[in-house]
Amino acid sequence: MSELAAAKRIVVKVGSSLLVGPDGAPDGAWLSALAADIGRLRDRGQQVLVVSSGAVALGRKRLSLGKRTLTLPEKQAAAAAGQSALMRAWELALEPFGLSAAQILLTRDDTEVRRRWLNARATTETLMTLGVIPVVNENDTVVTEEIRYGDNDRLAARVAQMIGADVLVLLSDIDGLYSADPRSNPDAVHIPRLTHLTAEIEAMAGGANQGAGVGTGGMATKILAARIAQQAGCATIITLGSRPAPLAAVEAGEPATLIEPALSAKAAYKAWIAGSLSPAGGLTIDAGAARALTTGKSLLPAGVRRVTGRFEKGDAVLVQDEAGRDIARGLVRYDDTDAARICGLKSASIEQVLGFSEGPMIHADDLALLFEPPV
Ligand code: GLU
Repeated sequence: MSELAAAKRIVVKVGSSLLVGPDGAPDGAWLSALAADIGRLRDRGQQVLVVSSGAVALGRKRLSLGKRTLTLPEKQAAAAAGQSALMRAWELALEPFGLSAAQILLTRDDTEVRRRWLNARATTETLMTLGVIPVVNENDTVVTEEIRYGDNDRLAARVAQMIGADVLVLLSDIDGLYSADPRSNPDAVHIPRLTHLTAEIEAMAGGANQGAGVGTGGMATKILAARIAQQAGCATIITLGSRPAPLAAVEAGEPATLIEPALSAKAAYKAWIAGSLSPAGGLTIDAGAARALTTGKSLLPAGVRRVTGRFEKGDAVLVQDEAGRDIARGLVRYDDTDAARICGLKSASIEQVLGFSEGPMIHADDLALLFEPPV
């Protein structure tokens, strides 16, 4: 499957039942083989982020909670006790390959509230630039039932969206999607590739394949995750995780299901900025800045004439020219007070005036043009 080899950023989701052995301890041999597989991608220059479950399962053993159903506070206690065991297992596995892990614990708000989303994205990107493997899990200890993702398939898809990943790999206990449950139906056909996630596919995942999932998420949550990724411009690969090197196996052509992205990650991000966010304020820019934006440049404070409305750093703002025409929408790097103080100034004076600098008013990557630039 060429998509995996070609991807720049890859999110790999690992479920509890792969990582935790029947004795309740981490499966070190399997983890080590996966770490080697991840190291191979890193050596090729690809960035890899891991979303790992297993905290509750490992915490169960640490706290001697047995196999019974846990109450929410018990689950949260197990997550707290197990998360450090989980990180230790990842560190032990990654270290021999010269890789280090960094723990990131997220709640749903971190990927849904824009400012927190931007912060989480910046930290994650810094870690990946520094060559570290971020290991993400839900912050189960602090979330309540109503505000949790609940399953790491969905968390992984949101993280893939957040960092603009090209490929999301969901390691499962089955090698992809089938037209029916292959364990009970000998006529079940493996589906190697999907362009659209139709209602029929979703019904199939909810019915025949439902029992095929591991941990909290069954095949239905995998399809849900694939849908989020698809709209974010990210391909999803569902494959068998229990193989010693599941990523190498996919590349070598072992069965997997690939769900194609609906559009490119960059286009999806820009569409999100242009379409789904309501602007909290506005910036009026001069003709020179308007021209610069159409050639893909960032919006610098020097080109901003006026700041309107109240907004926080990271909010979406509407960018208009002096005639009131809508030029772009973008995520602004300063709040309205700071933006007003630096508007019209050269970038070199930002730090002098504010005592800090976040760079341009709106970075080109966070800017969506609202019209086709004239050619
Ligand atoms: N966050 C949970 C854990 O670490 C797992 C949730 C899931 O597997 O989907 O145990």
